[in-house]
Amino acid sequence: MPPLPPVHSIRTRMIVLFIVVTTTTLGAFGVHRHWLYQQELEQRFERTRIDVLEGLAQSLAEPTWALNVGILRTRLDSTLIHPEVVEACVFSPDGKETYATAGRPAYRDGPPCAAAGADDLLGQVVIYPPDNIDAGRRELSIGKAVVRFSRQPMHQALRAAMIQGLSEVAAIDVVLVLLLTFGLRMVFRPLEHLQRALFQLASRHGDEPEELGRIGRQEFDSVIDGFNQVLRKLKLIIAERTEAELTVRAAIQRSNNAFAQIQATQAELMEKNQQLETLSRTDQLTRVFNRRYLDEALIDALAGQSAFSIILLDVDRFKSINDNHGHQVGDRVLVEMAERIVGAKRPADIVGRWGGEEFLIICPDTGLEDAAAQAETLRHAVAAQDFSVMGAMTASLGVASYQPGDTIHGMISRADQALYEAKRRGRNRVQSGEVDAVVT
Ligand code: GH3
Ligand code: MG
Ligand code: MG
Repeated sequence: MPPLPPVHSIRTRMIVLFIVVTTTTLGAFGVHRHWLYQQELEQRFERTRIDVLEGLAQSLAEPTWALNVGILRTRLDSTLIHPEVVEACVFSPDGKETYATAGRPAYRDGPPCAAAGADDLLGQVVIYPPDNIDAGRRELSIGKAVVRFSRQPMHQALRAAMIQGLSEVAAIDVVLVLLLTFGLRMVFRPLEHLQRALFQLASRHGDEPEELGRIGRQEFDSVIDGFNQVLRKLKLIIAERTEAELTVRAAIQRSNNAFAQIQATQAELMEKNQQLETLSRTDQLTRVFNRRYLDEALIDALAGQSAFSIILLDVDRFKSINDNHGHQVGDRVLVEMAERIVGAKRPADIVGRWGGEEFLIICPDTGLEDAAAQAETLRHAVAAQDFSVMGAMTASLGVASYQPGDTIHGMISRADQALYEAKRRGRNRVQSGEVDAVVT
């Protein structure tokens, strides 16, 4: 089966998209919230700074602390209840003498109440003598209180808030991934089920595609039912088509057979026609051309208007063979005679049986002299060797050549006359018609 289109990757892409959108949205909210929180902390820091400095100024305005350093330290300690305050000190007005210090243990290295880093901020309160001191000395400072504030706790709180915000977003993402994975699976599972079935159906050739099982969810089961109905219909159509195909194939086979039969019959007919054609122009006894064909050949030769000659050959004293040895021996001599004539003829010459024991030879493109010479060759072929039953046999030949304005009848009668003359002069001879015509 070919690989299915990636439904999984669509699902993954949807989940990734949801996560990106959710994370971006939550992130934007988180950044905003963080900014607000930072503002709030800054304001609180500022308020604390003012409150602490004002409170310290008030408490140090009373004279009691001057009597007891312990009281002074208690006042300074009380500022440490604010996490933003890390150190508080009271110095002499010139700052050279330290009256008292209070501070958190982590901030005690270095000179007291000096700014140690970028996060630190120093606040100062100048201390004057109490009201009951005479007016001349009241204007002179008797010391100064320095408070070291640090933004570090604020930054820690911000960091903690940020980590909490990020954890919340991560937790929401995890929940979302789980929800989407299971939620989308509920949608995509049946779709994959359907998709796989459809692709199986499309890729299978010989197998019977199976109907899909219901999955117990109404919205998908109705689709599966529909799909199964289509499948059943498809199977029906395929079955009908297969049957139709078989019928057509059988019909084609039948028509092919019939066609082959017709072809065979046609070939047979052509052969028979050929045989008939050959038969119709062949002399049954001697197998040379018959009289009918000779008539046609003479007409053709005459229509050609070119010089041609004819030789009429008659077996000498043939009648006595029939009389003395029977008709069958006569027939045998005729067959042998035809064989000798055909054996001695030139390739273009046409040999046929003119009638009885007479043969006609048509010599195309041949003048009288050449025809007489050919007649002499034929005469010699007959006389030179003994015949199988009758021994020595001879024939007489009359030759006629085409003359302008000639007719078949004219040519035949000239050849016939020449033949008659040859017989008269003692047989076993060649006589040319025209010579005779000149003579008489
Ligand atoms: P000539 O030398 O003058 O030609 O003497 P001939 O005996 O050949 O005389 P003619 O030509 O008159 O004789 C022809 C004979 O041939 C007459 C006939 O009986 C015989 N004949 C004709 N056709 C056939 C045939 O098909 N078969 C046989 N056996 N004899 C035939
Ligand atoms: Mg004859
Ligand atoms: Mg004869």
